[in-house]
Amino acid sequence: MTASTIPMGHLVYEVDAEDVVTRIDGEWDAFAAQNAARSCLATQVIGRSLWEFVRDPALRAIYEALFASIRGSGGEKSFPFRCDSPHQRRTMRMTVRDLGAGAVRITSALEEVASIAPPLMVVAASSGAELLRRCSICLTFGWRGRWAGLDELLEHEALFDRERPLRVIYAVCEECRHDLARLAASPARRLGEEPVTADRV
Ligand SMILES: [Zn+2]
Repeated sequence: MTASTIPMGHLVYEVDAEDVVTRIDGEWDAFAAQNAARSCLATQVIGRSLWEFVRDPALRAIYEALFASIRGSGGEKSFPFRCDSPHQRRTMRMTVRDLGAGAVRITSALEEVASIAPPLMVVAASSGAELLRRCSICLTFGWRGRWAGLDELLEHEALFDRERPLRVIYAVCEECRHDLARLAASPARRLGEEPVTADRV
């Protein structure tokens, strides 16, 4: 089994009222290894602030709003997001649940997988004059002042050297910002109610 075929279906982590990671469960280490985030192995994450791992200020603001809206609600909210590997397009669902006393459980579950052929290597760049931005939630690419899917991007493949990884700066696209702000503003689902979701990805 190669790294890219490690089954990666379920990740769970919990934070306390101060957003410090208190528990990690599921296939986190496989996920971290698969995504080359070796500094994020479970044993190295517990006891640290979640925000050490969420560097993009826009993404952090979205999560903070979501957590604030879930704390004390006694319920949960969920939204889909993409977490691709070079070989697979993966749609996952993140569920944020109030555990009481300020604690929050975040569960990410795999919902759908499809192959990407040929594979697409993408690496994060921290700075520079790169053309591309990429949305952390839906993985669309920000290119020439607007957001576009991979297919559209590849129509202009001559602009990019497929033999080398695409260098991107991660951000959050306007649609995802809007959807997740709306999710944060809506009431949480309590047991026995219809799910509150932002389904677009
Ligand atoms: Zn997006």
